[in-house]
Amino acid sequence: MASKKQIHVGPVAVGGGAPVAVQTMTKTETANLSETMAQINRVAEAGADIVRVAVPRDEDVEALKTIVVQSPIPVIADIHFNHTLALKSLDAGAHCVRINPGNIGGPDKVAEVAARAKELGTPLRIGVNSGSLPKHLHEIEKTDPVAALVGAAAEFVELMERLDFEDFKVSMKSTNVPNTIAANRMLSTKVPYPLHLGITEAGTKWSGSIKSAVGLGTLLADDIGDTIRISLSTFHAEEEVKVAWEILKALKLRERGPVLIACPTCGRLQFDMDSVVAEIEQRLEAYADPIEVAVLGCAVNGIGEASHADFGITGAKNEGLIFSRGKALRKVPQDQLVDELFVEIDRYATAKRIDVDDAAAAEGSKWLAQIEAENAGDLTPERLAAMERERAAEEAEAAEPLVDEQSSPTGGRRFTRSS
Ligand code: SF4
Repeated sequence: MASKKQIHVGPVAVGGGAPVAVQTMTKTETANLSETMAQINRVAEAGADIVRVAVPRDEDVEALKTIVVQSPIPVIADIHFNHTLALKSLDAGAHCVRINPGNIGGPDKVAEVAARAKELGTPLRIGVNSGSLPKHLHEIEKTDPVAALVGAAAEFVELMERLDFEDFKVSMKSTNVPNTIAANRMLSTKVPYPLHLGITEAGTKWSGSIKSAVGLGTLLADDIGDTIRISLSTFHAEEEVKVAWEILKALKLRERGPVLIACPTCGRLQFDMDSVVAEIEQRLEAYADPIEVAVLGCAVNGIGEASHADFGITGAKNEGLIFSRGKALRKVPQDQLVDELFVEIDRYATAKRIDVDDAAAAEGSKWLAQIEAENAGDLTPERLAAMERERAAEEAEAAEPLVDEQSSPTGGRRFTRSS
């Protein structure tokens, strides 16, 4: 269930129906101003809406004062154990402060932080970690870790409400994907506050991206979650941002830049797909339009499977075809396919229209039809899939009716309406 309440981290709305915000966290020592700002600029460029920085020492607070001024996106100060640093971060101008009420020194310290945040109009993020639950929940945690996590979050929410502070979002972190899903599903029905989603210590770029896509994707598909952070074991925080965007784009929750689709390749592949797809993916990063670009490894199937793509290429041994929205644009030599594809994309980026040269398009269509005809009997993955779809439709049509019309007492009368 989408959160009812909305907060603002700087100018970025979180919750209450706002687009899901992408967050990441810098990996630098925050006090190292030049390195931290360089990383913040890179993550902002990659599409981060909000960035979090660790503030474990006074020198980090000093740097924070400059960071909040220079950063192109709002900055959250990440505090553990030391409520004084939370107060100093608020005074330094942080756009939000993340605390874990369970490790900040008790309700009195939380009250001090909440009071200062309220004075300044700064939101808080209330974080609960499976590794630092309050002692009285440890027994429950052994048998029902989800109930323990949700119980801790609910207690902290009640504490904030008792303190008359409602300008916050909640996060429950666990390294366990099913527990994260179950806990957020449960909490989303109990509290109206925005939820921050993440899988703690998800892992490497490869395994961490998959775990995050499964965990966060499941929740986001159910309309749960207002801001996300992908935690990956890489120094390059921008990689986390790219993965977050791919998840949001895959679920059609937000658009950002082009979407690349590519066939899975098979024995009919006619060119070095790995390097071609990697080059196209990298070059597409420079474009802002949410166009769909398709790469097909051969022209045996025509372009039917990719006919929805705004632009695409398909190759044969010496030549290839550039197509757009289901129609051939022109035939080009194989070694110029990628560059000529980008000529078309650039033209579209500037003029916002697709120009068709009728003669070149006709020549391309003829070439494509010839390849399709020459390979008409090939059982390609796409044709096998189409055959399976057809067979399933036929089977569904021929299936035994659920009610035997002959023996049913209502046979022939169901759905009959009197006029
Ligand atoms: S038959 Fe399909 S999967 Fe195989 S290379 Fe051609 S387009 Fe790709």
